[in-house]
Formats: sequence, C-alpha cells, structure tokens
Amino acid sequence: MAGRYGNGGQGRRHGGGGGRGGGRRPEPEPIRGVRDDARLSSELLRMDGDSYGRYKSLKGDWDFGDFTLTVQHAQSDPFAPPSRVRVLVHDAGIPKSAWADPVRRRATADYLGRRARRLLRGSLLKIDTGGQEVIERSSCQVTEGGGIDLRIGIDLPGRGRRIDGRTAERELCATLPDLVDDLDWEEIDTAEAEAFADSVADTVALRAQLEERGLVAFVADGAILPRRSGVSDEPMTGGAVPFESPEPLRVSVDLPHRGTVTGMGVPEGITLIVGGGFHGKSTLLHALERGVYDHIPGDGRELVVSRGDAVKIRAEEGRRVERTDVSPFVRGLPTGADTGDFRTENASGSTSQAANICEAVEAGSRTLLVDEDSTATNLMIRDERMQALVHGDREPLVPFIDIVRPLHREHRVSTVLVMGGSGDYFDVADQVIMLDAYHPHDVTERARALARERADADFTPPRHRIVDPASVNPTTARGRSKIKRRDMDVLVFGDHDIDVRSVEQFVDPGQITGAGLALRELVRGGHLDGARTLAEALDSLERALARDGVTRLGGDFGGDYALPRRYEIAAVLNRLRALRVAELR
Ligand code: ADP
Ligand code: MG
Repeated sequence: MAGRYGNGGQGRRHGGGGGRGGGRRPEPEPIRGVRDDARLSSELLRMDGDSYGRYKSLKGDWDFGDFTLTVQHAQSDPFAPPSRVRVLVHDAGIPKSAWADPVRRRATADYLGRRARRLLRGSLLKIDTGGQEVIERSSCQVTEGGGIDLRIGIDLPGRGRRIDGRTAERELCATLPDLVDDLDWEEIDTAEAEAFADSVADTVALRAQLEERGLVAFVADGAILPRRSGVSDEPMTGGAVPFESPEPLRVSVDLPHRGTVTGMGVPEGITLIVGGGFHGKSTLLHALERGVYDHIPGDGRELVVSRGDAVKIRAEEGRRVERTDVSPFVRGLPTGADTGDFRTENASGSTSQAANICEAVEAGSRTLLVDEDSTATNLMIRDERMQALVHGDREPLVPFIDIVRPLHREHRVSTVLVMGGSGDYFDVADQVIMLDAYHPHDVTERARALARERADADFTPPRHRIVDPASVNPTTARGRSKIKRRDMDVLVFGDHDIDVRSVEQFVDPGQITGAGLALRELVRGGHLDGARTLAEALDSLERALARDGVTRLGGDFGGDYALPRRYEIAAVLNRLRALRVAELR
C-alpha cells in the first residue's frame, strides 16, 4: 500500500505545475490505516471546521463493502471545479442479458445513469447524463459481471474556507450508499429498463438494415419530429403532426422487439426535400442529422434512423483549412493557389462548404445532409443568367449541383438536400419529397416533368492527407495537458481554441470533450503516426474504441466525456488552427 496515494511521505514541494503565485501549501498526507466507510465517516466529522485544503487527505480508495469509493480529485477551494469521485459497485445484480451484448450494455448503463441523476436531485453529487440520445459515456458504465462503475462530481461543502464536515459526511456516507442501493437490479423497474434496452436495440437493428435495403434513412410512421422549442430538444407537446409516410416511399421493416414497422425509406441517390417556408423541411432534415444516434423511449424519434456515416454539411465562413483537396469544387482561384492542396486561415462561405464536403468524404462519409438555410448559394447553384454574365473561365466554383450526380454514380455518396428556393435541383434529383403542412408527399413525377437536361462536371475524389502528429498537441506552453470544453462552442486543446459551433452533429457536451480526448488518443495511441492517412488513423482509433470502450479515451482525465463519432473527431482536427498536414496521397 505504501506510495499508493502518491507523495510517499516526502513533503513534496512541486516545482512548476503552476500554483497561483508562490507559497502553495504542500498537500496534506492521505489518511492512512483502515480506510472503510466507518473511518471515512468519523474523519469527515472530525474535519468539520478545518481548513478546506484538508479535503485532499481523502484522496484514494475507501472500502464500503459492496462498493469502493475512490476520491480521485479534491478541489482546493469551494469555488474551484467540483471534486471527482468514482464509485465501483462490485455486483449490482444486473443480469447477463442486460450487459453481455454491447448495445444492451450501453442502453442499460444509460438507463441507470438517468436514474442516478434523478435520485441525486437536490444533493451535492452530480452525474453527467445524456439529453435525448443514448451515447456511451464515462459517467456510468456497466461492468462485465453486472456491476456499475460511476464517475460523479461533488462540490465538497464548505463554510467559507472551512470544511463543512457534517454535510460532506451526509453526502458521501449516506446519500451515496443509498444511491448504490437504489441502483441495484432488485430495486429498479426492470421491465422499464428492459424496454429501454429493447428500444435502443431496435434502433440499432434498423440502422443495420438500411444499407442492404439501399436506404440512407428511415422515418417511422407516427414519429414526432418537431421539438418543443429552438432551445429544447424534447418532443413538441400538443399540436405536433405525427409523421405519415408517402405511399411510393413507404417500406416496412422487421425489428427484433417491435416487430413490423412501416415508414418512409429515403433511398440512396439524390433526395430533394421541397415545400413552402415553415412547412417542416428543416425539421425533417434535423431529425435525419440526429438519426445517426439512438434516442430514448418517448423522444418521438426512436425510429428515425440514418446511416451512421451521415454528415451535415454547411457553410462556415472564417474557418481554417489545412491542405484540403477542394479541387472538385474550386478551380483556378484569383490568387493562383493550388486548390488540390488548399490552405487558408479564413475560408469564404463557398470554400468552407467545399472543404466541409471534401473532408467528410475523406473521413469516410457516404451520406451528405444539406439544408439551404445554412449553405453558400454560389456553391449550390448558378443559373443561366449568371453564367451568361460571369463566364466559366472567370468563375472558380463548380456548383454542387454539377457534382452531386457523379458523387453518387461513381463514389456511392448520397445526398439529402432541403431546397425550397430553386427548382434547379429537379434536374438531378432521384426523388423529390414535398412537405405540405408537415405532411410529406412524393412529387418526383411532377418535378421530373419540370426538369431540364443538365451536363455534369467531373468529380475526382479528394486526396487523402497524412497529418503531422506533432501538430496535434494538447500540452500548453506551461507544460500542462489541457482539454476543456466551453459550452457547446469551443474546445480548448492545449493553447488552442477550436471553434465547434458549426459542427452540428455534436449533440452532447460530453462528446466535445470526448473529441478532444480522441485527438490526444489519436497521437498517444499511435493511430496518427505520420504514415497512415487521416482516414486510416480514424479506422484504427475506431477499432480500439470498439474493443475497449469510451473510457479508453480518459486515462487520468478528471472529467465527464462521451463517445464522439469519427466524423466529429475529424471535424475537430480540421478546425485545430495548429494542424499541419505533412503529405497528400
Ligand atoms: P421550413 O424549414 O420548411 O421552413 P421548419 O422545419 O423550420 O420549416 O418548421 C417550421 C415550424 O414548424 C417550426 O416551428 C417547427 O417546430 C414546426 N414543425 C415542424 N414539423 C412539425 C410537425 N410535424 N408538427 C408540428 N409542427 C411542426
Ligand atoms: Mg428551413
């Protein structure tokens, strides 16, 4: 046991490591001897009124019999970020049927995490849980053998800079054991927990069927797509029009738990969503964006499912681009820059959107989701009169409409596009869905009657990039590793702020932190090794995460995080202003 709690008794003074000003007091020794729940209780009561820093002596493991409490980090003052504890419940009685399969295990963990959050309401203990999506996260894991591994934050209580030992004792020695009891399989509504896992398993089974059926997405009849408000992702209550599939696109699917379900299948190829303003186009597309994730029962989108590789594309003026091959869209810039190897600190609306498409394809996406509301018009269309005025040789942009067909025909990349403002895309669409007062209609035939002949442009897939791993570094100038999220806007990675506001398929704050940790892991785990292409490095990381789970990303990291997709990991990397690409292939 000696040395287990660090420090090894040498009153270490910590050179560097950055205390504010000088004069940082040495950390108190961890409490020695018997470390069980009775001892923790008596120590906390004895600490009452002591100086706040003594909380640090709690660090390390405490044996509660049926679980182990580990104090991983104790905050140094009451205003610092919360302290962190881990609770490892050896056996919570969770049956094998709820954890042997990885999908059910993720669902069971999610269910228990949400239950823990409800049980902890009003306490100082806080657990990170998801919103409407069921995403693997560090805060609650079901272990092999039916135990639970919880990572919890706690604001250790103080009166000024003195320890409030009584309250701390209540939280750690009463609330926490009660929580563990209440998470036991004997105590929970197992029918509800099983239904939760069944629902997630159905979603996963549905997504697995899409490819063989030639679909990129499925929207079940009866699904509720609209949300409560622009700032709430919960289902609209009252007045929501349930989804009803249009006849020609109606398909039925067989699911392991729900049985046969009907809905709209969105086929591969080019799908156009049209309709008047405010008729529900963006709401449908938004549901497809989120359909790459599984939703909790009651969300309304449990059976709105997209292929896991679907990426939302948008314009993003001002972003940096590092040696991306945007030549399919941009040829001959006024600066004479090589657009096959394009770099800018400040992309325009059109070049940023071109880079976003090329990078998504580079990362492996074969499904693009595009909404006119957030695109650069000049990258989407160019009408005849504009062509007559600005001749081909003066216009570096090849509009998406000229590429969308070769993208699919030659490279199997499908597009779902919302476009209410221009009929040009009738010329290239394989199917056209019109939303009329939230009801979808198949208007492919009518649109085809209005379509014109159109010549396509050539499309050569963008070249692959090999990243210099040294440029992906979370260490600050002061020598500390720093990965931190600011709201849903910024990921701080070392000395760099990465703007993630336009990465729209981040649905959970924990995924942003997870993407930062994934960048670190790409390098630390040797996936990004200076020889593999970015896509190969992502393949390699994905395999490691599938094998070891999301906590592979954490290691010594003291915070909550959730699993990001490879497309969001790539998106974060592409927005890192320090990124250097060594080679194109
Ligand atoms: P569009 O993109 O066609 O302009 P939106 O998708 O933005 O339209 O939807 C407009 C409004 O209608 C939003 O407030 C949205 O919440 C609401 N809405 C969308 N779909 C439905 C529906 N099925 N039932 C009720 N309201 C809906
Ligand atoms: Mg819209």
